[in-house]
Amino acid sequence: RDSCVSDSSDSVISSGSDSEGQVYKVVLLGEQGVGKSSLARIFGGVEDGHDCDETGNTYDRSIEVDEEEASILLYDIWEQDNSQWLKEQCMRIGDAYIIVYSVTDKSSFEKASELRIQLRRARQSENIPIILVGNKSDLVRSREVSVDEGSTCAVVFDCKFIETSANLHHNVRDLFDGIVRQIRLRKDSKEE
Ligand code: GDP
Ligand code: MG
Repeated sequence: RDSCVSDSSDSVISSGSDSEGQVYKVVLLGEQGVGKSSLARIFGGVEDGHDCDETGNTYDRSIEVDEEEASILLYDIWEQDNSQWLKEQCMRIGDAYIIVYSVTDKSSFEKASELRIQLRRARQSENIPIILVGNKSDLVRSREVSVDEGSTCAVVFDCKFIETSANLHHNVRDLFDGIVRQIRLRKDSKEE
């Protein structure tokens, strides 16, 4: 299968950079197999032939959200190796986080909660934007985590929530638009 070819109409395509030249670092967290790399490749526009390197794991793109460009550097490095150092780096570098679980895997959902707690511990006083993502929403019959459970968890953890399907490209654009809006909101409230 050629991973660079896709019939998506939902991909995130743009060029140019943020008016202020600022790049937002966004880090993907979550258990193996939940779909982080799939989401990252859609964001990175791999299917548009921009970057077909499967080992590449950061994606640099600008997207237009609410008529304003935002430059995002997306890190898909959480599982790159098992070193504690890398995990700590991941927890430190992000301006925002996407915590992914699979709606077909309860344990990945529980892992997502753990990650949220770890993140809070690592960045105690900071109010970092986080989106909790229930991926694989297309797999209706093997669902183990309901939409309600996901959104309730997000309320408890004080973060946003969205369900996506990387396979169907469903809500993927909304996810990345959402993270940009969250970052802008926090930034604006800090500046006040
Ligand atoms: P990662 O380990 O979190 O990076 O997960 P991957 O992106 O490598 O995906 C793991 C597996 O789940 C792959 O076989 C993907 O094709 C599959 N997958 C990812 N997202 C979806 C989705 O939304 N729906 C379905 N049905 N499968 C998915
Ligand atoms: Mg991966």
